Amino acid sequence: MENEALFNEDAEPPGTVPGLVKVKNNLTDFFSLGLETNQTYLAKQKPQRYLFPFKDSSRSRIFRKRHYPDISRFEWFDWHWQMRNAIRDVSRLEQMLKLSDNERQAMMHQSGALPVAITPYYASLLDPHDPSAPLRRCVVPVVDECLHTSGEAEDPLCEDADSPVPGIIHRYPDRVLFLVTDICSTYCRYCTRSRIIGRDDQHFVDMEKWEAAINYIENNSNIRDVLLSGGDPLTLSDEKLEWILARLKNIPHVELIRIGTKVPVVLPQRITPALISMLKKYHPLWMSIHITHVDELTPEMSAACISLADAGIPLGSQTVLLSGINDDVSTMARLVHGLIQIRVRPYYLYQCDPIPGSSHLRTPISKGLEIIQGLRGHTTGYAVPTYVVDAPGGGGKIPLLPEYAVGWDKGDLILRNYEGNIFRYPDNHAESKDIH
Ligand code: SF4
Repeated sequence: MENEALFNEDAEPPGTVPGLVKVKNNLTDFFSLGLETNQTYLAKQKPQRYLFPFKDSSRSRIFRKRHYPDISRFEWFDWHWQMRNAIRDVSRLEQMLKLSDNERQAMMHQSGALPVAITPYYASLLDPHDPSAPLRRCVVPVVDECLHTSGEAEDPLCEDADSPVPGIIHRYPDRVLFLVTDICSTYCRYCTRSRIIGRDDQHFVDMEKWEAAINYIENNSNIRDVLLSGGDPLTLSDEKLEWILARLKNIPHVELIRIGTKVPVVLPQRITPALISMLKKYHPLWMSIHITHVDELTPEMSAACISLADAGIPLGSQTVLLSGINDDVSTMARLVHGLIQIRVRPYYLYQCDPIPGSSHLRTPISKGLEIIQGLRGHTTGYAVPTYVVDAPGGGGKIPLLPEYAVGWDKGDLILRNYEGNIFRYPDNHAESKDIH
């Protein structure tokens, strides 16, 4: 019922086709391929008209009219416009939000590792009055980011040590992470890759580096799964993204390509029909979407996810457990139930990585276990994510479960169910073990 209300709240007529919005796209491109300058690349592009399969919600419409009175809904739906106009400075943010002293100081100095950028669309979702509101804490910096505590590290997962060529992280035998850009449309305050993202030098958007990375994949026949990440791969133009996908698709031993992205959440306007029809050519293509809180499940985001699912792209969510943002059972239950309704399978719940200045966002491990215990058995199994700790030092993802297996007694496995009741399973084929 809640989602139905979300989908029906727009009253303004969209484009000429019911439910579609026409947008003139000027194809401004931020990222040179390296073989040609931005100017020559742009000169080759013709303006196109895209049809978007969704409309703006009343919330974002009111926000646009208030803070961008001269901007048409067509420009609002242009993802390039959204990226170009990402909010990066304190004066612009202060026009939209009543900043706390803490936020203002952090914005003015921006001395933490992470840059600041918030798309106008995502800014429309932020509570203008409450600095403790969940989405606001995800993207607006606070001075606590300058506080470094023990155990924190710039590269806590030791990814750099598993990088045989720039842009490739090869930790598990049969799959690699391919960092194709260091740019995101909106920066999360807890990003694991705070050490590399949002730098001015466009470190990873470099044709030679992409070539070297693809050569590495071609030369390692045990790699059957490539996860495109960054930064956010969906900030690349369709042309560049397709170049990478086509090259990977041509490698016989690559069975699966995945894209890790937050774009459907912070920039749903990017999920254009043109992008979707391009992606459809590269099946099996899966997508992991970084979703933090139920407040992100807007009509625009929901429609973007449904469009991707309709294109046959299996969608999973990746959620970082964050203190005071999503670290209670009822908030997480609302999120996973909302995800199932928009055809996104809750996939991973991550313990927040100990990057520098993250202690105000991290929770004890017991919190994650409590949430899993509060979901497992109390809701659909598909709605329960796997809770993992990415082991500092490069140990990889380690799943954590509440203690459902209590021990063994006279050949029986002693089990605790979701209500805390104890049961025995005759584990006849196992070696006899005593309770421990
Ligand atoms: S979208 Fe991902 S890569 Fe970008 S800032 Fe957020 S966590 Fe980092």
